[in-house]
Amino acid sequence: MITRDELAALDAADPLARFRERFVLPDGIVYLDGNSLGAMPRAAAARVAAVAEHEWAQGLIRSWNDAGWIDLAPRIGSKIGRLIGAAPDSTMVADSTSVNLFKLLAAALRLRPGRRVILSERGNFPTDLYIAQGLAALLEQGHELRTVTAAEIPAALDGNVAVMMLTHVNYHTGAMHDMAALTAAAHARGALALWDLAHSAGAVPLALAEAGADLAVGCGYKFLNGGPGAPAFLHVNPALQAEIRYPITGWLAHAAPFAFEPGFRPAPGIPAAGVGTPPVLSLAALECGVDIALEAPMAEIRAKSLAQTALFMRLVEERCPGHGLAIVTPREDKSRGSQVSIRHEQAWPIMQALISRGVIGDFRAPDVLRFGITPLYLRHAELWDAVEALRDILTTGAWRDPRFAARRAVT
Ligand SMILES: *Cc1c(COP(=O)(O)O)cnc(C)c1O
Repeated sequence: MITRDELAALDAADPLARFRERFVLPDGIVYLDGNSLGAMPRAAAARVAAVAEHEWAQGLIRSWNDAGWIDLAPRIGSKIGRLIGAAPDSTMVADSTSVNLFKLLAAALRLRPGRRVILSERGNFPTDLYIAQGLAALLEQGHELRTVTAAEIPAALDGNVAVMMLTHVNYHTGAMHDMAALTAAAHARGALALWDLAHSAGAVPLALAEAGADLAVGCGYKFLNGGPGAPAFLHVNPALQAEIRYPITGWLAHAAPFAFEPGFRPAPGIPAAGVGTPPVLSLAALECGVDIALEAPMAEIRAKSLAQTALFMRLVEERCPGHGLAIVTPREDKSRGSQVSIRHEQAWPIMQALISRGVIGDFRAPDVLRFGITPLYLRHAELWDAVEALRDILTTGAWRDPRFAARRAVT
């Protein structure tokens, strides 16, 4: 059996330990929800204050040029592009993940005019499925969203599939797809591959260019630590950029926004995927998170993430047997992202009891306790403490306290 002292020794030798102080983490909290809202980079509060007090309050409208506000979104987009292994000038920061999905799905359907199917996975994140459903209904041309299980995807790629839209790491289970293999399978049937990197960017190694991915979207506020509601990103393979046409033709996607022409002409390249004025204060915060992610070696992040997810699963099995917990996250390293999901009939009150003790994970309907692993700031010994809290809550039945039963708006 492993001991807490052994884990503390691992922390003392951890090559990523120096990154913890780059984040503000409240005392007495074990934070296992960085896959839903990343912790705040220490630099972010000062950076946002500086942008507000100097660039906004003093610089006013001049700051679009003088403080480089107009270059913020493309600059951060290039940084995220490097992080996800995309070709230069293929990634930009814009809008939300949901809106970017709409833009890229619509553009994908126009690139495959004879085909009517958006293929996805049954357990995909709801917004991805909802956006596809809404787009199919809007077009009124017989398009449909077809969902299958992960195992059925290759066989479901028939000649009517325009685009295969998959989330690389599943939000519910933490299972990770083989991006290169599935992209190749889609291409072999003439379909485009659109990847949602919400639970991947900043968490697992990504090589979009190498995998030949056509399109991608992702979140700024999860493993990129960009702040609540941070702008999202999107990627379009350079091979498609001359041909692709987006459904939203806002002025900042125009070839010459400040010519104020009456007719729309798309900007060349990735800027055409934008829409309107970007949120400068949010971009300033996002850049702090992205800079840390670029600085930390991804190989070390992945090694620690795999070690910590494996450790967490092992501790749960060793210390909490006989309480009806069922780990749903894949054990095989190549098949999981950076979270551990555990099924239990009483997952909601158990998670509320954990949170009341400072162990913050989250609940995903109908019955999953979800624990995000963020190697930049998580210590091994904290995982011991989290599992000890879980063990105590289960053995004492503390979760039965009626105050843990009430459901709240955000789970
Ligand atoms: C978190 C998440 C989103 C979030 O979309 P928003 O538009 O930012 O609310 C979308 N897709 C997946 C797969 C996610 O995990």
